[in-house]
Formats: sequence, C-alpha cells, structure tokens
Amino acid sequence: MIDSNTIAIALIGNPVKRSLSPRIQNYFIQEYNKNAVYLVSEITQNHLKEAFNGAKSLGYIGLNVTMPFKQKIYEMVEKVDDTASVTNSVNTVKFEKVSKGFNTDTFGFLKSLEDKNFDWKEKECLLIGAGGAARSAVYGILQKPIKKIYIYNRTQKRALKLLDIFKKIAKNRIELIPDISLLNNKVSYIDLIVNCTPVGMYIRGYKDLLPVPYKWNLKNKFIMDMVYNPVETNFIKKGKIEGATVIPGIDMLINQAAYSFKIWFDILPDINSIKNKLYRELLNINKNG
Ligand code: NAP
Repeated sequence: MIDSNTIAIALIGNPVKRSLSPRIQNYFIQEYNKNAVYLVSEITQNHLKEAFNGAKSLGYIGLNVTMPFKQKIYEMVEKVDDTASVTNSVNTVKFEKVSKGFNTDTFGFLKSLEDKNFDWKEKECLLIGAGGAARSAVYGILQKPIKKIYIYNRTQKRALKLLDIFKKIAKNRIELIPDISLLNNKVSYIDLIVNCTPVGMYIRGYKDLLPVPYKWNLKNKFIMDMVYNPVETNFIKKGKIEGATVIPGIDMLINQAAYSFKIWFDILPDINSIKNKLYRELLNINKNG
C-alpha cells in the first residue's frame, strides 16, 4: 500500500509509455516487499534538467533513463561508474548525497550469457553494430579471456570511434570488418554472434531483416539478439532451427533491470519467474498482432 513512507523511482525518456521497465521493476518491488513505486515520466528535452533536479528534491531514490536522454543525464550526474564512463551514457541514477550514474547494460549482457553457461576462454565473438549497446557489450567482453572480437557496423566511422575508445584495453583483440561477407570463410570459427542493432525489431522495414547473411549456418554457436520485441526475432528463430544456443534480448533487458534494482535496494533479484511471465505475454502479443 502506498503511504507516507513509500519511496519513488521513475523512468524518464521519450517515448516511454510502452516500456517494459515498469512491469519488471514493480514486479521486483512486490517480490521483495519494498515500500516503493516505479513510475514513468515522458518528458521533453527542454524539461530534462528540471525533471532531474525535481526528482532529486522530491526525495526519489533514483531514476532509470532511456532514449534519448542517456547521454545528457551522463553529463548531469556528479559521479559515474566505469561502464557509464566508457559508454558515455547513464541508464540508472541513484540519489544519495551526490547523484551517481550507472550503466547496467554490461552487467545485463554478461549475465545473460553466463546464465546460459557460455565459457569465454579463447572465444571468437562477432558484434554487429557500434552504438551504445555495442559499447557496453565490448566493454564486458574485453574483461573476459577471449581471443578476438570482430565488429561489423554499416557505418565504418562509428566502428572506428568504438575502436578508438577501446584500443588501449583491447590489446589487438578487436578487428573491424568493413563488409560482413568478408567473414564468410571464418564464420565456422566464430563462437558468439551478438546483434547490437535494431535490425529485426517489430517496426516496418526492420522486422523481416536478419543481421547476418542468410546462408550462414549458426549450428553450435551462441546467438544473442539485443532486440527484445519481438521476443523471437528472425535471428533467434534461425539460431533455434539450426541448433544454436539462443539468448533473446528479453534476457538482457531483465538482467540489466535486476542490476538497477540492486543499485537502489542492494538486492539482486532472481529473474526466472518474471522472465517466463514476460516471455509468454510478449509471445502472445506478437502472435495476436
Ligand atoms: P544506437 O546507439 O542508436 O546504435 C544503433 C546501432 O545500430 C548503430 O551501430 C547503427 O549503425 C545500427 N543500425 C541502426 N539501424 C540499422 C540498420 N537498419 N541496419 C544496420 N545497422 C543499423 O542504439 P543502441 O542503444 O546501441 O541500441 C541498439 C539496439 O539494441 C536497439 O534495438 C535497442 O533497443 C537494443 N538494446 C537492447 C537492450 C536490452 O537490454 N535488450 C539494451 C540496450 C539496447 P550506424 O552507425 O550505421 O547508424
């Protein structure tokens, strides 16, 4: 029950009304018996600073931040964690004496693979995309004993920027691929393929696309899609049919949300029951149009 001790957290972004985060966070709040509520505020760029300061003054314990404000909030918080610093973007804020910004995507990415028992040793990975999500993934992968990360992005300039950020810690483990077909002869050696682009998303012109060439055989690989709507993208379906271990975007979405919850409440929630629930609900929504 909401009372005078209820603490508030809000998700800010635009658009944000269809976000799954309130479902996930309010589920965790209930599961762990917290006297808290997770709200959604769709705000405009002009009101971002006021909203941020307002939430702090009103005693909110934190915020989640989504598109297009992750970078702006990065600039507003007083302290940041390592992932936020590398990605220049903040998706979680905790208000204490100072405001601290976090990026929970790296945790969500790594945890989703580890939940499927992915062993990083000497692995060759291919990432498609070079935006914020790809940066979080690269940062995570580079902390593991992998052999190589291939990165393909349709715009070479953005891939070069990513390489520039990680060059020092990558120690020659990153190779940029200017054209994905150049990997046709190497694909059998690649252990993990991650789609870090919106290709396959439930929007016109994207849904029917595949991030990799159709002729690639995905057997025995780990296939991860960051896209979570639909839950089963064409990439995930292809992986399943061909005998890959598949990790849909919903896994990362819930794992990164669980880490936000940990930042606010110091409890890392168990994700299995909410994962099955959301997975079923989304599959039904996708089926019914
Ligand atoms: P972003 O910073 O805007 O980067 C988008 C990336 O996708 C860029 O590399 C862009 O390439 C590429 N791209 C966009 N449209 C493309 C197309 N039609 N064909 C090929 N490449 C295309 O976005 P982001 O934050 O990295 O997010 C990327 C995706 O990951 C989104 O769908 C987002 O919802 C999802 N995501 C999911 C989670 C999760 O928890 N599951 C977390 C974060 C992000 P260019 O440089 O050529 O434009």
